[in-house]
Amino acid sequence: MTGRACGDCTLCCKVMAIEQLAKPAAQWCRHCKPGHGCQIYHDRPVECRQFNCLWLIDERFGPHWKPNKSKLVLTTSADGIEVRCDSTAPDAWRKEPFQREIRALAAAGEAHDVTMLVIIGSRMILVATDREFDLGLVGADERIVREFDGGQLVGAAVIKASDLERD
Ligand code: SF4
Ligand code: SF4
Repeated sequence: MTGRACGDCTLCCKVMAIEQLAKPAAQWCRHCKPGHGCQIYHDRPVECRQFNCLWLIDERFGPHWKPNKSKLVLTTSADGIEVRCDSTAPDAWRKEPFQREIRALAAAGEAHDVTMLVIIGSRMILVATDREFDLGLVGADERIVREFDGGQLVGAAVIKASDLERD
């Protein structure tokens, strides 16, 4: 436990898509008062109730990662860790020490098939130890397929989910 609280941060209410509200990623939720909080807090959707960004709960990420300061919201996925940039600061993840820490996590994760994915709106960049794969805009109906060589991430491509299911 980190003992952290959201405080004046509301960035997930912008960067995350909320299916139950048909809210797209990279747009402020209509119920959010940025910097203050949710205006429908007691009636907010289940998705919002269940959400914790990694900065709130994971001590690996120091105080400098606080989302409204770093402009980065950290989440997990089935494949690893996702770093979602505020769309007004698309290069926030390249600033130090963030880029260095992201690459270190990518290096540590490669052996365990854990990926680091930077997301800016719908644009996705897969980060490896010593390189990155800019996948461009990735649709909700598309999936990322990674290529490994000897445990090292050497390639990535985007394909339709329906093509993946056929294989
Ligand atoms: S991004 Fe994290 S710290 Fe900020 S409001 Fe959301 S859950 Fe709280
Ligand atoms: S409903 Fe509330 S908690 Fe959920 S995204 Fe909107 S402002 Fe944030």
